[in-house]
Amino acid sequence: MKFRDMPYRRVDFEEVRRKFQKLTEELQSARNGQEQFEIHQRYYELTGEVETFSTIASIRHDGDTTDSYYREENDYYDVSMPAYQDMVLAYQKILFQSPYRKELEQKIGQVAFKNMELSFKGFDPKIIGLMQEENALATEYSNLLAGAQIEWEGEILNLSLLTPYLQSQDQKIRNKAYKKYTAYFESVGEELDLIYDRLVKNRTEQAKILGYKNYVELGYYRMNRNSYGPTEVEKFREQIKKDFVPFVKKVQERRKARLGLDKLTHKEEGVYFPQGNPKPIGTPEEILKCGQEMYGKLSSETKEFMDFMMENELFDVLGRKTKSGGGYMTYLPNYHAPFIFANFNGTSGDVDVITHECGHAFQGYLSGMDPIREHAEITMETAEIHSMSMEFFTNPWMEDFFGERYKDFLNMQLEDAVIFIPYGTMVDEFQHMIYENPDMTPKQRHETWRKLEEEYRPYLSYEDSFFDEGRIWQKQRHIYMSPFYYIDYVLAQICAFQYKIWMDENYEEAWSSYLELCRLSASDFYGNMLKKVGLKVPFEEGSIKEIVNKLEVKLAEKI
Ligand code: ZN
Repeated sequence: MKFRDMPYRRVDFEEVRRKFQKLTEELQSARNGQEQFEIHQRYYELTGEVETFSTIASIRHDGDTTDSYYREENDYYDVSMPAYQDMVLAYQKILFQSPYRKELEQKIGQVAFKNMELSFKGFDPKIIGLMQEENALATEYSNLLAGAQIEWEGEILNLSLLTPYLQSQDQKIRNKAYKKYTAYFESVGEELDLIYDRLVKNRTEQAKILGYKNYVELGYYRMNRNSYGPTEVEKFREQIKKDFVPFVKKVQERRKARLGLDKLTHKEEGVYFPQGNPKPIGTPEEILKCGQEMYGKLSSETKEFMDFMMENELFDVLGRKTKSGGGYMTYLPNYHAPFIFANFNGTSGDVDVITHECGHAFQGYLSGMDPIREHAEITMETAEIHSMSMEFFTNPWMEDFFGERYKDFLNMQLEDAVIFIPYGTMVDEFQHMIYENPDMTPKQRHETWRKLEEEYRPYLSYEDSFFDEGRIWQKQRHIYMSPFYYIDYVLAQICAFQYKIWMDENYEEAWSSYLELCRLSASDFYGNMLKKVGLKVPFEEGSIKEIVNKLEVKLAEKI
């Protein structure tokens, strides 16, 4: 069914509560595992319906924020969802304590039960008040950044509209944009310090109430880390420092030479060519059409997926004034339909939507065929493998998007991914240090960041006070809004590199491994799944060095 024809009605949560009560009673009086499993099918139906309607409302609201009907609907779910989550959790507790657990585990999977356990550990009605305050503080941060008004040649720009100037090929324009950018952050620096201080204290208090030493443990539960902990992540960071950072140093040296600069600063972040970064050719409609043709050629599975997406109009990617910002992929369970939302703006980011977001959507489409809905509940380090690897699997068709500069694009894509690794890892170490020492002053936090910069990015020069004071982390949304969600990108990128290396040797073989991983979804634990499909687990000692050796050859060939 086309998205615009999908019917909508407001979910009646009182009715949902009654249905949950009935389900719970039946679950408790069931006489065996099979009966419970059958009742659980109705749980899928009930939650599928709630998710479908609330997601339709949210997409339609994002598509036109001036539409008062869907704005009200969207507000309604914002308010109702915490209570709904509570209903789901209560039901899951009964399932979790089932006398027929063994049989259920065989059907639904061990991962699902482990995830339920983590959800229980991460929540208690006692902390609802603090959680609400936490959400409000995160929103305060987001609003502060969204409200930036930067004067630019008679126009008022927000931070994202300033981005093209920050990446301009003209160094003078870049410097000017950069000055304005940092001046904004300096003007709200104290506010940013205060919001973060309150967030750290709030999260620490939640952890203490739940009986944990600090927020690190609670943060890991909230990220659903069901098969590794801070120790594995710490060892992973050590490998990055030892084996990846020296490699990035060389890549940065080459970038510096290509740009004709005598030193690299934060100002050149995102700038790859003296003549400017490659941009896609054609109109947004043409880019979308090009994407459909590409997936038609890539494999029969991607053809089926993309035809389904286009046929049912499951994209809203064209820029309109009344749309909300950003981009994402979401899922409508009742229609087995992924949905992609984005704002095309004429940069290579438009093609990333076709590759990255479609990678997420393709996986959503495949796992939608799995009757066990828990298998779709993937953790982020796995979800980002699907998307980041698709960015590479689509490499053979980039000439269709970038014309004669497609080689520049491929080069930029790989370099950009490589350069990201130290930064992403640093964001993670920073957060561990912060939550292990929640009483640090704002100044000490900046000093902590500044020290990490020297360790992870020794190739950057610090010539402006904003960075010299170690304030750059304040622009990273995840640090405020999604604690510990950042190493996931790094872990996933390491796996995507493995696919890149593999596909250049044997595309067919790499693709069938990728397909298998997408289909496994969340049916097994992270490490097990990677091994099953022939990928190295990034936590394994020596795994990073091996990847670096191969990437070094690859990048040397290109430049
Ligand atoms: Zn993603």
